[in-house]
Amino acid sequence: MAHDKKIIVGNWKMNLNMHEASLYLLQLSKLVKVRRDVEVILAPTVMTLQSLSLQVNLRQFKLAAQNFFWRDHGSYTGEVSASQLRGVVQYALVGHSERRHIFNESDKDMRNKVAAAVRNGIKPILCVGETAWEHANGETKDVLHDQLIGGLANITSEELDQVIVAYEPVWAIGTGQNALPSDVTAAVKVIRKQIEHLYGAKSAEAIQILYGGSVTPDSAADYLSLAGVDGLLVGAASLEAHIFSSIIEKAHKGSSEAEED
Ligand code: PEP
Repeated sequence: MAHDKKIIVGNWKMNLNMHEASLYLLQLSKLVKVRRDVEVILAPTVMTLQSLSLQVNLRQFKLAAQNFFWRDHGSYTGEVSASQLRGVVQYALVGHSERRHIFNESDKDMRNKVAAAVRNGIKPILCVGETAWEHANGETKDVLHDQLIGGLANITSEELDQVIVAYEPVWAIGTGQNALPSDVTAAVKVIRKQIEHLYGAKSAEAIQILYGGSVTPDSAADYLSLAGVDGLLVGAASLEAHIFSSIIEKAHKGSSEAEED
């Protein structure tokens, strides 16, 4: 199923303070028109989310949390829950490779987080992808299978339409190394096959799958044109409003579909 909306996510990681984030949003809102065919999602650090949520025009941009804890409340010092993020964000990243590999988050964490997001009306963007070693050793398919089974274990087929999957090969994140379009197409096929196995053909067709890994304005259009790729998850190239806006433009099919702000 070809989706009528492309999704472009900017993951700012641990960059931009409150003032910089607010300025960025102002700049980006001048550069990017409200488009019916593109959903733009910004994932700032958690401390800037509240103020950006008051500043943002939700018809223009949505907000995502980069991370959260899966319990709704309790004695979890330093954590923020999906129930606290409810109403502030519309989306949340789950299982970004930096969470998996730097903070040792497991598939159990992923499945609890995916469920917590859905329970709180937040759409989880479940990130999956193989390491360089796994890639070199032909293990991509197995890794994707395991991460999908692990991450979606608490999700019913009715809930699956709330979930987005991002294919992010770990070796392509923040490295400037571009995954080959053929590798991305193959991985996206594997993901859809596994979703079909778990939830059936309709769900496999319907699920939205993003690609992420060193995407730039130069490579964005190529990835967006790949069969089965519904959007992009962008790290470094989302940190400057004018660069990110040119990636967003690549996702926009025709200026006639622009709406007024
Ligand atoms: C990411 O953070 O998910 C990412 C893809 O980063 P980059 O675009 O910098 O590789």
